[in-house]
Amino acid sequence: MGRNIGYGGTAPRVPGSVVIDLGRRMNRILNIDAENASCLVEPGVSYFALYEEIQRRKLPLWIDTPDVGGGSVLGNAIDRGVGYTPYGDHFANHCGLEIVLPNGELLRTGMGALPGKDGADNPTWQSFQPAYGPYSDGIFSQSNFGIVVRMGMWLMPETGHQSYLITFPREEDFPAIVDIIRPLAQQRVLGNIPQLRHAVQELATTGRLKTDFYDGTGPVPRDVIRKHAATLPLGDVSWIFYGTQYGDPASIAKQLDLIRDAFSKIEGAKMMLPEEIPAEHYLHSRVSVCSGVPVMRELDWLNWVPNAAHLFFSPIVPTRGRDAKVVHDIISRLHAKYGFDLLPTLCVAGREMHYIANIVYDRASLDEKRRAATCMREMIAETAAEGYGEYRTHILFADMVAGTYNWGNNALMRFNETIKDALDPNGILAPGRNGIWPKRFRGKGWEIRGTEVEDALEGKGIGPKAHL
Ligand SMILES: Cc1cc2nc3c(=O)[nH]c(=O)nc-3n(C[C@H](O)[C@H](O)[C@H](O)COP(=O)(O)OP(=O)(O)OC[C@H]3O[C@@H](n4cnc5c(N)ncnc54)[C@H](O)[C@@H]3O)c2cc1C
Repeated sequence: MGRNIGYGGTAPRVPGSVVIDLGRRMNRILNIDAENASCLVEPGVSYFALYEEIQRRKLPLWIDTPDVGGGSVLGNAIDRGVGYTPYGDHFANHCGLEIVLPNGELLRTGMGALPGKDGADNPTWQSFQPAYGPYSDGIFSQSNFGIVVRMGMWLMPETGHQSYLITFPREEDFPAIVDIIRPLAQQRVLGNIPQLRHAVQELATTGRLKTDFYDGTGPVPRDVIRKHAATLPLGDVSWIFYGTQYGDPASIAKQLDLIRDAFSKIEGAKMMLPEEIPAEHYLHSRVSVCSGVPVMRELDWLNWVPNAAHLFFSPIVPTRGRDAKVVHDIISRLHAKYGFDLLPTLCVAGREMHYIANIVYDRASLDEKRRAATCMREMIAETAAEGYGEYRTHILFADMVAGTYNWGNNALMRFNETIKDALDPNGILAPGRNGIWPKRFRGKGWEIRGTEVEDALEGKGIGPKAHL
């Protein structure tokens, strides 16, 4: 559907490309199997459309939605996006693909490769992911090896749920909070993919302009954040943990006791439930997202600056205080250096957290765009030097991020290039996607590794340094 906002939207990497809009007409929900708790969708099925169809049929099933529900169930999963129920790892919860290969052949993966009786789809296509032989689905995620035209997705049977938040008063407790999250996540006490956010987002998720809080230039100073946070429902806090637990009321109560107990080791930690907090507070939209109801509320923090656009910087960080601090310190320092507020959301998957830093800038300002691009490049380089890499990035930074995964003399990229050349010998599909260039483009100056991004902003464009 092309809603990959913050990661490049619908833009192709190579000028003159044909953009295939799969969202417009390939928008059928091909099947919802209530017994198997799964569905089979085309690329144009949005989270809202799937949710509404399940409601229309009155099925006791949840979808898992990212923070913004306008995108494609298939597109988000194929980009390995994240949601916030127990089914939040979208690619891990897909089951079966149908793919158009660059040579025009149609491929079904998983159990779909075994024809069902009398020409029907295999009855276990949406039940068992790997089937037989090498598990090939992974190479069609974040890749340019094929166009996925059908995808199976597991749905969660509806259940009881209780969202909550925990506030922490001190900035410097960040590593200690992470160290408490780790065992809770590993033991699967935490029910979903919870988020850890900073108090500045308390201000931003009100949907108000930054200038309502601060009329200076550069990032809002900590004391100003504190002053305004103190007037909001959570008070003068530094970090906020948003979680949700699932099951029957008695088991949820026990889980909340365990979690409250664990975090009580942090001085001043305070758990709050939705009923204690005004209806307009952001926690209430988390209640929706974490129980499978798509929303658009998350877009509110884009009001932070006028004419806002944003770039996501998304490194993978071990759920360990000392690692999280290294990454957080680099990102904080570089945001300050380039004059941006740090709006971090840490999505806890278990042994790792997706640290999502949202650079919000005025897209009418050449200076801000330039600073955002340089900040991105330096964050990619500095975190990689410490051993941390991104899980997903904007198309303009794809070569840079791909270049950080260079172990063994670029063994992984050489492997990807071998697959690319075998499946797409003419190099027609999404050249440059995730840094994978087809043979006819390779080594001809298409890769963006340095200041070409900033140069492009000044109207110089991004193209090959040598002709094809
Ligand atoms: C405020 C805000 C909050 C956000 N929160 C989240 C979040 O919580 N979790 C999250 O994951 N994202 C989040 N995003 C990022 C983004 O909005 C979502 O991931 C969105 O779902 C992506 O758009 P889409 O689903 O339309 O995918 P698309 O843009 O359609 O697809 C993403 C990419 O996958 C590839 N692709 C898509 N379809 C196919 C296909 N059929 N075959 C082969 N390749 C394909 C393309 O390269 C495409 O660029 C957020 C964005 C904003 C602005």
